[in-house]
Amino acid sequence: MKLVSVVVPCYNEEEVLPVFYKEITKVTDQMSKDYPELEFEYLFINDGSKDKTLQVFRQLADKDKRVRYISFSRNFGKESGMYAGLKNAKGDYVVVMDADLQHPPKFLPEMYSYVKDGEYDCATTRRVNRKGESKIRSWFAMKFYKIMNKISDTEIVDGAQDFRFMTRQMVDSILEMSEYNRFSKGIFSWVGFNVKYLPYENVEREIGTTSWSFWGLFKYSLEGIMAFSTAPLAISSLLGILSCIISFILIIITVIKTLVFGEDVDGYPTTICVIFMLSGLQLFCTGILGQYLSKTYLETKHRPIYIAKETDEMYRNRKQKNKKNPTEK
Ligand code: UDP
Ligand code: MG
Repeated sequence: MKLVSVVVPCYNEEEVLPVFYKEITKVTDQMSKDYPELEFEYLFINDGSKDKTLQVFRQLADKDKRVRYISFSRNFGKESGMYAGLKNAKGDYVVVMDADLQHPPKFLPEMYSYVKDGEYDCATTRRVNRKGESKIRSWFAMKFYKIMNKISDTEIVDGAQDFRFMTRQMVDSILEMSEYNRFSKGIFSWVGFNVKYLPYENVEREIGTTSWSFWGLFKYSLEGIMAFSTAPLAISSLLGILSCIISFILIIITVIKTLVFGEDVDGYPTTICVIFMLSGLQLFCTGILGQYLSKTYLETKHRPIYIAKETDEMYRNRKQKNKKNPTEK
């Protein structure tokens, strides 16, 4: 038998979870019929939700043995959720998908058909359009991918998503990247392997709301650049060299003007301009340096990527105990 773990990071998804569970089990039950060798487990991650997501997990765990869950002590972000899921998944294959049905479960059989013979190590969907997204957001996204792929050695595929069907081997490689600043789009691509991209039209979120603000996405894209490229550091050195050249030329011009043509030099404005330009450049470059330093600082602390407060195992044990000694709390 082969076990497929379906990992689902959830943040405030109480409304959509029952629908998601219904959809996913419909597809996986059919798959178990078509491929008798397949078994499934569902591993839900509660990323510090403020609504009743955890209670929904418990209900699902009550009625379905295949449901497992991990509940974080606070919101750690989707990246941490995915990491926790991959780390705790027991399957020979691992699927990562969103709870909001923007990653349609109907793709799973097709994905499995590519991965099962070992020809591909991973099957994933790739958006062919950005329907239902604002123009500015699409424009920024496009620019991000362009810049990113210019300055990074790791290819970041435009439109690729965190909806993946992976082999155990690939999952283990991803887990070996235990970095604290996690940028999955880069990590998935950095580990290599054969990836099959299935084109798909963007689906809009039907229930609940996205937890990504424009500013949040912008910060995330900077994280991505810093995690997978050191080009900004090179840019700062280049700017330094450039400003040296400019000031050198200015000095020569000034000297010639004074010595050869006997002109007065307007001291005040030129000095102010130069001071402004150079101090600006210096601050900019120190800033870039500081950003990398801060990332290094966080990495060297070796903080855990997530902290689990409750798991299905704890919940099930507690229930068992209560059943045995109903008076004890
Ligand atoms: N998510 C999470 N932690 C967060 C934010 C989001 O686990 O801090 C989950 C969320 O529940 C969903 C998935 O990540 O299953 C994608 O989130 P969302 O739909 O908000 O993002 P989008 O689809 O707009 O990229
Ligand atoms: Mg979504």
